Amino acid sequence: MKLEADLHTHTIASGHAYSTVKELVDAAQEKGLQMIGITDHGPQMSGAPGLDHFWNTHVWPRQVNGVQILRGVEANILDTEGSLDVPDEILERLDIVLAGFHGGTGYIGSTVEENTKAMVAVLQKPLVHIITHPGNPQYPIDYERVVLAAQEYGKALEINNSTFMGIRPQSYEPCLKIATLAREYGVSVAVNSDVHICYQVGDCPLALEIIHKAGNERSSVLNTSAVLVQEFLARHGRHII
Ligand SMILES: [Zn+2]
Ligand SMILES: [Zn+2]
Repeated sequence: MKLEADLHTHTIASGHAYSTVKELVDAAQEKGLQMIGITDHGPQMSGAPGLDHFWNTHVWPRQVNGVQILRGVEANILDTEGSLDVPDEILERLDIVLAGFHGGTGYIGSTVEENTKAMVAVLQKPLVHIITHPGNPQYPIDYERVVLAAQEYGKALEINNSTFMGIRPQSYEPCLKIATLAREYGVSVAVNSDVHICYQVGDCPLALEIIHKAGNERSSVLNTSAVLVQEFLARHGRHII
């Protein structure tokens, strides 16, 4: 399965990533991608940029050398009510909003019930499009409830390739479970690299292995097509030119 887009990447602005916007976009072009989502961490993460960084992303070109650039964020989920560390007035300015749990960002909650409640609340937010690494076993969730919420609100769940590169290797089985449930319930998944350096942009071999094992159709993997991504975002009021 070939990917036309990578919707989750980080630049030097994240504080612990190593490439610029230009380096990511150039690498995306070299890999034959048609679209890249640049989604630095929300401000609660140590070293992450302030809100002005996200506010000002409108200066980015829409397209460079045939690669469409989505102005994005990976916001941090802060509590069981689904509060995020980026206010709505900033999220409204962005093309794509990812949200996920991250250590050291002040999230209060630890049980399956609390994590599930938080994730469902985030899925319910009209301004959020994709939940990042829901298969992270550090934040166990009720997979079925989360997949059903994604179905109800028309959102996508991420199968994150960086997860398997040493950060969270125990994510394999949870991700397989999520991909399988997503197939059963007709929920879209996004297969993303979550790269923190440009060289592996768009490379998602282990995440794609999970998709293959779970039997998800190509059409249910959002970023196999830039058009599918555009249509998905348009359903959430984001008309990307
Ligand atoms: Zn990061
Ligand atoms: Zn993340």
